[in-house]
Formats: sequence, structure tokens, C-alpha cells
Amino acid sequence: MSSNSLPRTADVVIVGAGIMGASLAFHLARRKAGNVVLIDKDHVGFGGTGRSSALIRMHYSYPPEVQLALVSLHMFQHWREIVGEAGDFRKTGFVRTVPANEIERLKQNVAMQAKLGVNVRLITGQELKELEPDWNTDDIELAAYEPDSGYGDGANVANDFLSRARDLGVTYVPKTQVTAFQVAEGRVRGVVTEHGQIAAPVVVAATGPWTRPLFQQVGYDLPIEPEYHQVAILKNAPGMKGGGMACIDSITATYFRSDGQDKFLVGDFYGKRPVDPDNFPQRASDESLEAIIERTCCRVPKLENAEVMRGVTGVYDMSPDARPLLGEVPGIDGLHVCAGFSGMGFKIAPAIGLVMSELLLDGKGKTVDISSFRPSRFAEGKPIKAEFEYKDD
Ligand SMILES: Cc1cc2nc3c(=O)[nH]c(=O)nc-3n(C[C@H](O)[C@H](O)[C@H](O)COP(=O)(O)OP(=O)(O)OC[C@H]3O[C@@H](n4cnc5c(N)ncnc54)[C@H](O)[C@@H]3O)c2cc1C
Repeated sequence: MSSNSLPRTADVVIVGAGIMGASLAFHLARRKAGNVVLIDKDHVGFGGTGRSSALIRMHYSYPPEVQLALVSLHMFQHWREIVGEAGDFRKTGFVRTVPANEIERLKQNVAMQAKLGVNVRLITGQELKELEPDWNTDDIELAAYEPDSGYGDGANVANDFLSRARDLGVTYVPKTQVTAFQVAEGRVRGVVTEHGQIAAPVVVAATGPWTRPLFQQVGYDLPIEPEYHQVAILKNAPGMKGGGMACIDSITATYFRSDGQDKFLVGDFYGKRPVDPDNFPQRASDESLEAIIERTCCRVPKLENAEVMRGVTGVYDMSPDARPLLGEVPGIDGLHVCAGFSGMGFKIAPAIGLVMSELLLDGKGKTVDISSFRPSRFAEGKPIKAEFEYKDD
């Protein structure tokens, strides 16, 4: 992009064309919110979005997150009608397991989710074994089972949002880094990029793990820390049932899902900090993949004979309560943040774009109340804590 072709003004500038920025651009365009510019230092899906394991589940302990996941599931299920593209949501079913000392919490959370409209029920280890004969369920007393959940594809979803947003008039500016926000007299005036400036009364940073330094420049320290994660993609071992359910398994501290009919994806709860989002290993280390697979073998013993096809590495944007920061930054009118998704943003991204568009156009999230996600909550000493939070939430 040359400085001549960079738009000089916009009604809204969205910084970051990950799944969040693209979703917001789509929802703003649907509401005919004026001249929207979506800008990325690289290209759509370059960040965590293109590396996402993309599990889709409704199981959260905090009700607004359940609501965001449900609104998103509806969009994933009706992708063609809403976004106009084929979509690639795979409904495999999903299971959440917790250690014995958290079973009471599991029961409470499943009851809360069912009340909010989630198709979820408790199943015994024996029932789970019948659904997934390859899994060892001896140590599972009860699990939460969501027949309608599954997984998707981060890059595809972001691309679908972007192409529909562009059809509806959004300007997409790749390969252009925003180097600063322009702020004067307590309000945002636009952004400075490496190719020139764009004046705008509203700016939203959907910048994932790159968010903190941008805001530090305008005197606001958002506690978002990059954290390094690794994922293994395996070829199913001979005799393994393909296309099985997705699972978050607190007992082995892993999550996993099928990857089509012939592959299996395994990820880890634990990550490493600090890490530089511009300079982290692009190749997963064999030792760490082995360690993740070994733990998953306790649940899916046949994986012991599965061939490792490749590793995926990526960076989460962690917040102190592992929940996103959504909304205007105090003291700078018009400057909004939409980041800190803490490794869980894919499944709620369709709804996040919607509620952020409502926040900008209607003054608040109407579909889901997102006021508790306000960026000032940490400075106020009010991080989010769910009533029946798990140890590893
Ligand atoms: C390995 C891995 C596995 C995951 N698994 C799951 C999962 O199973 N389920 C789930 O729900 N979530 C999962 N997630 C999390 C989910 O993928 C992320 O929460 C989501 O993709 C974040 O999207 P984003 O748009 O906020 O950020 P990103 O995708 O990181 O996008 C940020 C964009 O901003 C751009 N940018 C940054 N700074 C600037 C700047 N100054 N100027 C211009 N552009 C800028 C970047 O280039 C980037 O394209 C996973 C993430 C990873 C890394």
C-alpha cells in the first residue's frame, strides 16, 4: 500500500485483521456504519487466528461467555445464510472433564448452561466409553456432553468475514503497521501508520498479543501478556475411530479433537511466558510435542502408535482473569480495545464482532451484556471470577 492509496479519513478504523477485527468489520458493514477501514501490519489471519485449534464449545463457568459462545454457534450453524460462504463448521460433539474434586462445580455449570439454552447433559464414564470406544474413561465419574459442538477453521472464518465485509464496502489495508494512536484533548483522532495517517473519531484495536505496547504509548497499561503454545497434529493410529469428539480434559491438562477423518489434534493447557509475538519458534520442539502426546495417551491410549505429522506453534494474548478486554479505554473517548482472548477467542468471535458493533453504534452490547469485560476492571480491582470457576479456567 503506497501513501497515495491509504484512505485519509474513516468513520471507524479497526486495527488488526484477525478473526475479531474481521468479525467486527463484517457486523459494522451489515449495519451500514459508514466508512470502515480494516488495517493489518501483515494480512488477514496472520496472528493467533491462522494457528487456532478452533474448538467450538459452550462450556464456560461465566454465563456471559456461554451466551457469547451460543450466539456464535448459531452463526456457525447458519454460515451461508448469514455470511454468504459455505463455512466449515464440523459438528463432532464435545466433552468437558474435570477432576473428582470439581464434579460439584461441573454439575452447577451444566445446570447454568442448560438454563441459558445450551444442549448439554451430564454423562457417566461408561456412557462416554460407548460414544468414544478409543478413550480410556476409567477415571471419569461424570463429564459434560454437548452433542452440537465441534470445531472450525480460524483462517477460513476470518477470510469469510473479510470478503463479505469488503462486498459491503469495508476498505481492507494489509501490509500496513499502525505505529501509534493519535490522541488530543481526551479523544482519539485517528491512527499513524508506516504509510501515513488516517483520521477517525473511533478506533478499535483488535491486535491480539501486540496490544499492550500500542496502548502504553498513550499512557494506558493493559495487562495483556503473550504466551507461547504448541499443538501436535497426528495421523490416526491403525484401528482408531476417525472423526471423534472434541474434548477439554482437565485430568490430563490437554485438549484434543479429530482433524477430519484421518487425523487428530492435541494441545496443551500450559504455555510459556514471556514470549515475543514477533519472534517465537515457528517449529514445535519434538520433546514438548512428545510430552503433550504422552499425557493425551492416558485418555486415548491408541495415540501411542500414532505418527506425528506436524506441530503448530502460536501465541495467546493472556489477561489476568483469562477473559477478554472489551470496550473504551478510560480517559480516551473513541479508543476501544478488543483483545486478551487468552487462547479462547475463536469460538466466540462471531458474537464478539456483533456485540462490539452494538457497543460502537448503540452504546452497549445488546445481544449480550459485555460491561463486565470493560478494560478498566483490573485497575478497579474487579477481575471476573465465575461463581463455580474451575482451577484451570
Ligand atoms: C495455538 C492456538 C490454539 C488455539 N485454540 C483455540 C481453540 O481451540 N478454540 C478457541 O476458541 N480459540 C483458540 N485459540 C485462540 C483464538 O485463535 C484467538 O483467541 C483468536 O484467533 C484471536 O483473534 P484476534 O483477532 O483477537 O487476534 P489475532 O489473530 O492475533 O490478530 C491480530 C491481528 O492484528 C494485527 N496487528 C497487530 N498489531 C498491529 C499493528 N500495530 N498494526 C496493524 N496490525 C496489527 C496482526 O498482524 C494480526 O493479524 C487458539 C490460539 C492459538 C494460538
